[in-house]
Amino acid sequence: MLVLGDQLDAEAAAFDGFDAAQDAVWMAEVDEESTQVPSSQPRTALFLAAMRHFAQALQAAGRRVHYTRLDDADNRGSLAGELDAAIERLQPQALVMTAPGDHRVLRALQAVAAARGLALELRPDRHFFCTVREFAAHARARRTLRLEFFYREQRRRHGVLMDDGEPCGGRWNYDADNREAFGRDGPPAHAEPPRFEPDAITREVLDLVRRRFAGHPGRLDSFAWPVTREQALHALQRFVAERLAGFGRWQDALWPGEPWLWHSQLSAALNLKLLDPHEVVAAAEAAYRAGHVPLESAEGFIRQILGWREYVRGVYWTRMPGYAELNAWDAHEPLPAFYWSGDTPMACLADAIGQTLEHGYAHHIQRLMVTGLYALLLGVEPKEVHAWYLAVYVDAVEWVELPNTLGMSQNADGGLMASKPYVASGRYIERMSAGRLCAGCRFRPGERIGDTACPFTTLYWDFLLRHEATLATNPRMAMPLKHLARLDAAERARIGDRAAALRAGTAGV
Ligand code: FAD
Repeated sequence: MLVLGDQLDAEAAAFDGFDAAQDAVWMAEVDEESTQVPSSQPRTALFLAAMRHFAQALQAAGRRVHYTRLDDADNRGSLAGELDAAIERLQPQALVMTAPGDHRVLRALQAVAAARGLALELRPDRHFFCTVREFAAHARARRTLRLEFFYREQRRRHGVLMDDGEPCGGRWNYDADNREAFGRDGPPAHAEPPRFEPDAITREVLDLVRRRFAGHPGRLDSFAWPVTREQALHALQRFVAERLAGFGRWQDALWPGEPWLWHSQLSAALNLKLLDPHEVVAAAEAAYRAGHVPLESAEGFIRQILGWREYVRGVYWTRMPGYAELNAWDAHEPLPAFYWSGDTPMACLADAIGQTLEHGYAHHIQRLMVTGLYALLLGVEPKEVHAWYLAVYVDAVEWVELPNTLGMSQNADGGLMASKPYVASGRYIERMSAGRLCAGCRFRPGERIGDTACPFTTLYWDFLLRHEATLATNPRMAMPLKHLARLDAAERARIGDRAAALRAGTAGV
């Protein structure tokens, strides 16, 4: 029975009917999963630590586990190589696994099984609310795919936040209430997420990763992610009790030096399957029904999991492998080197990238409206942006990372994930951080040309200029294009010149 590093659930379908007398579990740590993109140290460490704890728990429960460690002498370095060697050694009669999340991995394992003449039985991943087949049927029934319709269908089908067939509170969506910035004094006092200090197993992994992936991005000094189911459950319970109430209101807010805010930090535990989304959604709904959290917080949080998370998985599995090749804006710039170091004079980018390298984490608005926005406006090749997001975040697995990066953030899929590109000038970042992120920056968000013009602002106007004809076909872009129409030819030329200097690296960034 095959268990991958993001399938750490002892209740998964692959374990159904497991007979300890004759069945065995196969797990493998391999270099390839850390080198196909330069996986950050926190990301690799989290996967390996969680895998080792899971294998130990399986063994303690009396299950035989064949486990290859990264530094085992004869490690073949790839999942396919390790599986092939294990088949040779163990001569199994059949292979069983829960359907993998990643297209590349599925193809690689299927190829090994086929070459060895073995059947590879794929069992459904019960972790998700919606099967890929159900998503495909949903998509087929519509001319355009939109999160909101999918989400409502999910709410109805699973009876989440519903009262007598109607959405709780009479509305499906509390987005409009969930866009507050902090005031000038910054975030009010709030609980920090729990830290899980590394035990002996995790410390061994941290040493291994430091040695073996010394040149990879990110640091391990403050590693404190949950690596077992018990720890993940504790993190969930603490989040619901201490911070879910503020999730809705502060969902989009930014503040320098504040990585966690009212976000849950549960994505990695969910993606590794240490937590089941059904239990996470149920806990949030229960907190609302018990009167502990406002409806807009519970709804906003549940929409991310029951809505977005399931939606991106559906997009990934119904569109791959072609999806990864899309590049609707014909963008070909290289990713700036500072994405890997955080070394940039732009304060908002330095803040978001700095904490990313420190913790392997940034919250959604930092990913979408800071790092993602800059890459989109600069015109970076989507595959390079994809490689960066897949490498740096502890929660990065391709089925969720790719549609978010290529679709939602870079709008490279021609509008499948989002009905308009998420473009904004530096003013957005200024507003969502009550000016604080810009206060320490040498660039001014209100200026679009000149040496102190905020690069986001220059590149925003440049994006509108470069794509004016295409954007004009999108009614949701009418307002920005109306503002663009007021710019005369000389101003347009100056914007283009400064944008070119930013791309050439001659504008001081
Ligand atoms: P919270 O803000 O507390 O949200 C609660 C949960 O909702 C998250 O744990 C997550 O499971 C889910 N969720 C929220 N937004 C999304 C979304 N857009 N898509 C899918 N699930 C969502 N998420 C990943 O899990 N892995 C990734 O590799 C990843 N890459 C991203 C890349 C880009 C460019 C963008 C814009 C978003 C990406 N996201 C990714 C989605 C989202 O940003 C993260 O899930 C979230 O920031 C994780 O932090 P959290 O657990 O504190 O989330």
